[in-house]
Amino acid sequence: MNRNTLGEARTKIVATVGPACEDEKVLLELVQHGVDVFRINAAHGKTEDFARILQKIKNVRVQSGYPVAVLLDLAGPKIRLGQLVQDPLDVEVGQELVFVRGAYVEKPNELTSNYPKLIDEVNVGDRVMLADGTIMLEVIDKSKDRLRCVVAVRGTIRSRQGINLPGVSLSVSSMRPEDIENALWAARNDVDFISLSFARSAQDVASLKNLLASMDANAMVIAKIEKREALKALEEIVDAADGVMVARGDLGVEIDVAETPVAQKRIIQVCREKMKPVIVATQMLESMHHNRRPTRAEASDVANAILDGADACMLSGETAIGDFPVLAVDTMNRIMLSTEQMLKDVPGNSKTRLNDRVHPITSAVTHNAANIAEAIDAKLVVVATRTGGTAWVKAKQRNYIPTLGVSDSEQTLRRMCLFWGIMPRKVDRMENPDDLVADVTKWGKETGVLLAGDRVVYVTGTGLLNQTHNLVFVHEVPK
Ligand code: PEP
Repeated sequence: MNRNTLGEARTKIVATVGPACEDEKVLLELVQHGVDVFRINAAHGKTEDFARILQKIKNVRVQSGYPVAVLLDLAGPKIRLGQLVQDPLDVEVGQELVFVRGAYVEKPNELTSNYPKLIDEVNVGDRVMLADGTIMLEVIDKSKDRLRCVVAVRGTIRSRQGINLPGVSLSVSSMRPEDIENALWAARNDVDFISLSFARSAQDVASLKNLLASMDANAMVIAKIEKREALKALEEIVDAADGVMVARGDLGVEIDVAETPVAQKRIIQVCREKMKPVIVATQMLESMHHNRRPTRAEASDVANAILDGADACMLSGETAIGDFPVLAVDTMNRIMLSTEQMLKDVPGNSKTRLNDRVHPITSAVTHNAANIAEAIDAKLVVVATRTGGTAWVKAKQRNYIPTLGVSDSEQTLRRMCLFWGIMPRKVDRMENPDDLVADVTKWGKETGVLLAGDRVVYVTGTGLLNQTHNLVFVHEVPK
């Protein structure tokens, strides 16, 4: 598959890197099949591992000619069990387990965790969920150094399994020392997106942004919504973040799984209103870990996320540890292409959207460029952008006409990998409209994307107004 053809899916694909796809050849194939952003999960591995993967991704950028972006996913304050005496441990309904203070346990029914205040902050009646929510304990008694629990849903417990405490307000800080170390590594290594797990407030997001600002880093901060507290503070978190992830894995344990579809719709809606990119994550094509075909329900899940207004869909284990990583990406891409046919004849959002990060003149001009493109049946819209802001305004209009986001900045090109419907393309000179037209026309003719007579709408600036895009013009491709 050739990237940057006008038939490319508008919705972006984020794929998690892991042992199943870490080979450079497989990473290249994933990009050729539609991956826009590679996610490195910082919960697994150390900075040496991330550096090794990043180098391979950089090589793949050169080989594919596509500026594939990188997202580092910080583990955040994930609470985990400590070492068990008996590992694994099968537990039955009614069995008693006890959380004890300290790092070590002596008896098979004793548990400890990596969060020293767990016994202080969990109360009688609270639920403790283990193994991705498949095991449930209920707290029945609490003393100074012990928390007695009874098993309500049976299963197999293993050392270092994640612990979810639905509804419990924890005083744990939003970033552990290793998150800070990983964020600093990402800042030093020009990573494009950094996501923060278990964000609970706008302040959590601001702490990461301040850390990055202190390093002069431009990475966009993605807040992962996976706690009830985050849903309560959703509007402020979305305002504070540069983008959002609907992290359905943990969210579906922290709140009732029955509530997650509506939560997803609300999160996407708030992101649309506030013009922030939103990624829908986890179990999108879960059965493709071991199967060549997804279930009908999974295909519908991807389609519905797009129809809700997601900018990107994410693959986790499907590409990281699954048997068919390339097939999973290809399948997701095909579902996107098929679903987006529904959006083709829907006019773009006709209301000019204002956003405090983009000049109102830029918003109005970009918006009307899309209207012009629709009215004259243009083949392409070209948005010249230094920071990606103008491309973002165009993305949020959901106008279906293919759009090239052209920039002379590599960082901006990678950032646009998360922007719905924007195909990033490097140009060497973008100040002069004539140079821009010459460059795009040459590319379009060489790739067969543009034919004589095709109309192209350009959005750029005259330079007469500071920091704005104040120029729209139409060009007809000559013979
Ligand atoms: C999630 O919980 O859905 C998620 C994306 O986070 P992680 O994979 O880090 O659990």
